[in-house]
Formats: sequence, C-alpha cells, structure tokens
Amino acid sequence: MQRREFLRKAGAGLAVGAAATPAIAQTAQPEIRWRIASSFPKSLDVLFGAAEHIGRRVAQITGNKFQIRAFAAGEIVPGLQVLDAVQAGTVECGHTASYYYVGKNPAFAFDTTVPFGLNTRQHNAWMYAGGGLELIRELYKDYGCISFPAGNTGAQMGGWFRKEIKTVADLKGLKFRIAGIAGQMLAKLGVVPQQIAGGDIYPALEKGTIDATEWVGPYDDEKLGFHKVAKYYYYPGFWEGTAQLSFLVNQKKWDELPKEYQYALETACAEANILMTAQYDTKNPEALRRLVGGGAQLRGFPRPVMEACMAAAFELYEEIAQKNAQFKKVYDAWNKFRSDEQLWFRVAEHSFDSFVLAEASRELRNPSAKAAKK
Ligand code: CA
Repeated sequence: MQRREFLRKAGAGLAVGAAATPAIAQTAQPEIRWRIASSFPKSLDVLFGAAEHIGRRVAQITGNKFQIRAFAAGEIVPGLQVLDAVQAGTVECGHTASYYYVGKNPAFAFDTTVPFGLNTRQHNAWMYAGGGLELIRELYKDYGCISFPAGNTGAQMGGWFRKEIKTVADLKGLKFRIAGIAGQMLAKLGVVPQQIAGGDIYPALEKGTIDATEWVGPYDDEKLGFHKVAKYYYYPGFWEGTAQLSFLVNQKKWDELPKEYQYALETACAEANILMTAQYDTKNPEALRRLVGGGAQLRGFPRPVMEACMAAAFELYEEIAQKNAQFKKVYDAWNKFRSDEQLWFRVAEHSFDSFVLAEASRELRNPSAKAAKK
C-alpha cells in the first residue's frame, strides 16, 4: 500500500513536471505575426503550398505563438517583386525563386539553378554541405535579407511550343517566356526571352504575344492550361536540371526573433524543401499521362540544339564572371563542386538510373518480352 501510494505520487509528479516545463517556456515567448509574400498564385498548390506549409509548421512547433500567413502573388506585391518587399520591410519574409532577381545580381541564379548545372541531389549537397548556402547568403546581405532553401521542383520540362524546334535555326526570333539567366543563354541563339510571372503566361500565349513558354512540369503546366494553346511539349528543361525555391527573411526581423523561433523557421524551410520534390515526383507522372492522353505531343530537344545551348551557357558564365567579382566567386566554387559531383554521380547513381530506366523502356516498347521471361 505504501509502495503503491509512492508510485502514484511519483507518477503524478512526473506528469505535472513534464507538462509544466514546455508551458513555462511557451508563456515566456512573445506572440509574433508575420506575413509571407509568395511569388506564386494560390492555384499552383505545390508552389504556393510550400509557403503555407512553412507557416503551419512554425505555428505547430511554437504552440501557435509564432504565426506566419502566406499571401499569393499580387495580394501584397507582384510575384516578381518579393525580394524588394522583404528588403524594404513591407513584409517580414517571402517565398520566391532567386533567379527572378538576376537583374540586381546575376549570381542570384546559382541559388535557384543555372542551365546545364546541378541536379536536385547535387544542388542540395552544395547548399547544405558544400558551402553553397554561405555564398548565397553573402549575396543577400547586400539586400538586408537571409535566405533558406525552401522547395525544389526537380528537373523541369522544356515547355510548350506552337511550332516544332528541329534545328538551332528554329530558335531565331522565338518569343519564349523563360526566366533569368536561361533567357540570356537562349538570346545568344536568337531567342527573344520574356520574363512573365506564372499567372500571366496563359493569356500571353493564347494571344500570341509569345510563341512558347516554359513553366515547371506536367502537374503545374496542366493547371495553367498551356496544352490548350500550344501542342508540342518539349523535354528536358535543360536550363533547370533542378530549381530551388527560396525563403527570404528581412535580416532585422530575423535578428529580433527568439532563437527557438529561428530554429522552428529554419526547420520548417528544410522540410518544405524535401516535401516539394516529393509532391512533384508523385503528381507529375499522372499529369503527364493525362496531357499526352489529351493530345499533347511529346518532343525531345534535338541533341545539336542542346549542344549549342550548352556552349552558349558556359560562354555566358565566363563573360559575366569577367565583369562581376561576386558572380565569379560563386561560379568558381559552384563549378568545382559540380565537377566533383559529376565524378561521383557517373559511378553509382548514373549507372543505376541508366540501367533501370533502360530496362523500363525496353519493357514498355516490347511488353511481351517481360511476359516471355516468366
Ligand atoms: Ca521553369
């Protein structure tokens, strides 16, 4: 009886203690409300959803003390002005793609992707373990911001074209909606690049203001309806072998946060980074089936077109590096990292992927071969 009494009291004591500790910690923390300006419309639920996810997670981790509400492109500022809004303190934070801001500094491209660059695994390696994030944060210091990787689309599609691209000459005069430094690469081959935010592309393609557009991949492209106004769907988006989204925080606002809130936000961004790739990789195959079933004509870019573009891309990087020391610093580090990654990926990852995917293609072309093997 005595022993049972003791256990009961000890148990109660433990329970009270366990519950009381976080409660005390929570009451000591301030209530903070922030706004995220997203570069994306609500209809693109994976892209816009990443900002919502970050807000939801931060609230969960901080017992609802720190709340961040996401606003779509155009609700507070236009989609391509998120960095300006965060820098000015119009909003505390934003969710965007850094390559929208190559007009301010071309080195911002490395935070998202550059043509013929890294794939998603390699990009995350560079960011989280290879020194990339530190280099990118140096760039954002000039704009009073701190950045976090916060989403990745994976390798993208080449986009929707009204006419087929059979030779390099077919690029001449093509009015193509394409963002950032990839537009400058294609301009070397005669393309007239147009930077247009996601929600505004469809009317431009429908009216014929542009001849072609790229966006992300089957899941988003289907929602934006491009297949209704351009029938050729090209792959791969060789200018986006990966594409990272970034979460930007006004540095002063970041410095004012309690440490625990900073950890919560950093953790939520890292989770959003993984989750977005998982969502796209799950949703894209079904959407691709629907698009092709609905009449979209899949086309691979001809090898000579890709070779000419790759030569133009690296020529462009060298030219910018000669004029811009910040670009050169990031480019040199990125290029070295890229070459190490290629050494490693050629051995294990590529051998595995190329064997398994070649087998899958063989079975797809000749289903009876699989049945005969049984
Ligand atoms: Ca794209």
